Amino acid sequence: MELAVLGSGSAFSDTGHQAACLVDGKLLLDCGAPVTVLLPRMGVDLAEVETVVISHLHGDHVGQLPTLLAARALARPEAPPLVVLGPRDLADHLQQLGELSLGQWFWSRIMADHPPVLREVADGRVERIGAHQLEFFEVEHAQQLHCLAVRVESQVVSLGYSGDTTLCPGIRRLAGSVDHLLCECTGWSGPSPIHLWKEEVELLMSEFPNTSFLLTHLGERRPVPGALLAFDGLRLSLRPPGAG
Ligand SMILES: [Zn+2]
Repeated sequence: MELAVLGSGSAFSDTGHQAACLVDGKLLLDCGAPVTVLLPRMGVDLAEVETVVISHLHGDHVGQLPTLLAARALARPEAPPLVVLGPRDLADHLQQLGELSLGQWFWSRIMADHPPVLREVADGRVERIGAHQLEFFEVEHAQQLHCLAVRVESQVVSLGYSGDTTLCPGIRRLAGSVDHLLCECTGWSGPSPIHLWKEEVELLMSEFPNTSFLLTHLGERRPVPGALLAFDGLRLSLRPPGAG
């Protein structure tokens, strides 16, 4: 499984672009980074992206989705509809976001001529998308916001993506079920009511020693023994544990 990190920073930090990473050149996990610039820069045509998973509806995770849909419609009108999987209220939120950011007339044209396939999913939902099986886990992040983490499985390896979360049952279920976990680490100096901080990530690592941790959504950039820190532009080939 090939992982490319486009955005490794938290919402308000200067450590990197906001959240987005690409799996196997086709599956985009979150759309907060300026992907219409970053994907071509990585050699990925916008038409190659088949699926977008939105973990939750905060701007640093979904804010660039209208731009991606519009850019794809304009530059690659022949591309098949983008499949977008996300939490409850995804469709309403995208409609508002698209109208506000691109204008009502233009957004309505995009939605009429090149509508995405939107699927609102919830805890336990399993979706087969091409060579990947996706399973969704509800996590606790912000009040009154439906927030998801996701497990991506290929034939040989599994990757978890935390989205934004606290140290809740959902992230523990996910961490225990994957080979690799792309895990948020927003706080570095003390606990946060809505995010994981360094000591909670270290606790999670100690609870799941067979899972390899790659930290993202970084508020700062300091070493965490035993974990890798993501950075914008990082590319990794993920293999099963013990495969080197
Ligand atoms: Zn968030």
